[in-house]
Amino acid sequence: MTSPDLPAAIRADVRAMRAYPVAKTTTGLIKLDAMENPFPLPHALQEELGQRLAKVAINRYPGQQTTALKKALATHYGAPASYGVVLGNGSDELITLLATAVLKTAPALMLEQARDGQPRNAPPSIILAPQPSFVMYQMAAQLLGLQFVGVPLKDDFQLDEDAMLQAIAQHRPELVFLAYPNNPTGTQWRTESMQRIIAAVGQNGGMAVVDEAYQPFSSATWLDQVKAHPADNAHVVVMRTMSKLGLAGVRLGYLFATQALADEIDKVRPPYNVSVLNAECALFALEHAATFAEQATTIRAERARIETDLAQHPQLKVYPSQGNMILVRCNGASEQAEQAHAAMLAQGVLVKNVSTMHPMLANCLRLTVGTPDENTAMLAALKSAL
Ligand SMILES: *Cc1c(COP(=O)(O)O)cnc(C)c1O
Repeated sequence: MTSPDLPAAIRADVRAMRAYPVAKTTTGLIKLDAMENPFPLPHALQEELGQRLAKVAINRYPGQQTTALKKALATHYGAPASYGVVLGNGSDELITLLATAVLKTAPALMLEQARDGQPRNAPPSIILAPQPSFVMYQMAAQLLGLQFVGVPLKDDFQLDEDAMLQAIAQHRPELVFLAYPNNPTGTQWRTESMQRIIAAVGQNGGMAVVDEAYQPFSSATWLDQVKAHPADNAHVVVMRTMSKLGLAGVRLGYLFATQALADEIDKVRPPYNVSVLNAECALFALEHAATFAEQATTIRAERARIETDLAQHPQLKVYPSQGNMILVRCNGASEQAEQAHAAMLAQGVLVKNVSTMHPMLANCLRLTVGTPDENTAMLAALKSAL
C-alpha cells in the first residue's frame, strides 16, 4: 500500500483515509448534492461587490474587516449583548478549533497535575454526537486524537434522549455537537430533549455546540433559548455559517458564545484565519440580507413543494426537513438508491447518494433544494429513475 515516494512520517490512519468527497466535474449538471444556494448573486450586486473588493487593502493582514464583521453579525442576528463572536474559515474550521480547545494533550495534563498534585492518567478527550449526523465532527475527533462517541438516532431520526443522557453520564464528553437541524436528515430536534441533553452536558463539565448551519431555512434558532434561559446555556456555543445562505465559496463560519468562552476559543484560532476578502464579502452579504432572505423564502417554499410531491410516491419515504435538503428512502431493492443516483446523473441531475454513509441511511438519497426549474427537472429525473 505504501507508495515508495511517500515519507514514512505520514500517519498510518491518514494514509488509510479516503479524502472528503468533493465533486470535481459538475459543469452542465444540475448540482443538487451539497446544500448550496442555487441562486447566483444578482448582477447589480456582483458589480457592487467587485468594486468593494477592489478597495480592500490586500497588502495588510486582516483586522479592520474581521472586527467590523463580528460586530455586524452580533447586531444582525441579535446575539445577547454579553456575547462574543469567533470567526472561522467556514464552520468546518470552527469544529476543529472547538476540538482543539478541549483536547487534553499530554503537556496539558502535566500542567493540571502540577497545579494540584493529583496524578492524571490521560484518557482521551471525548466528542459525542448523535448519528447519523455531520461527518466533520467525527473527522475532527479522529485527526486530533479525541475519542468519538456516536449515539444512534431513533428510526424517525429524532434524538434518542434516553440513550443520549446515558451516554453523556457514562462518557462525560468535553464536547457534544447537536446539528440543529441535522444533516443529512433535515430533522429538527425537540426543544425539551435538547434542553435536558444540554443540561446533562453542563453538569458533567462539558460544552454543547448547537450547529445551526441550516438556520436560514429553519423555523427555530437556539439563540432564542440562550436569551430566555441564559444561565442554562452558558456552556452552549451557537455555531453558524454563511455557506448555505449563499456564500459557500466565501468560507465564513461564526459562533456566538459568552464573551468569556469566546475569548478562550479565540486563543486557539490562527490569528489571520479569515481573509480580508472573506470578511468583506460577508459584510456585503449582511448589508444585502434582504436579497438572501428572499432566496431563502423561495427555497423553503420549494422544499414544501418537493416534500408534498414525493410523499405521494409509493416507492419513497420522505423525512420532514427544516434544511435546504430533503432525505428520502427508497422502498425497493437494496441498491435502488444507488441505481436511482446513477440514472439521475445520466439525465444530468447530481444528488447525493448517502446510502453507505451510515447503516441507518441505507437506500437513502439526499436532495438539495434548487431553483424551481432545477427542482422540476430533479423530480422528473427521480421519478423516471425509480
Ligand atoms: C455544511 C455544514 C457545515 C459546514 O459549513 P462550512 O461553513 O461551509 O464549513 C457545518 N455543519 C453542518 C451541519 C453542515 O451541514
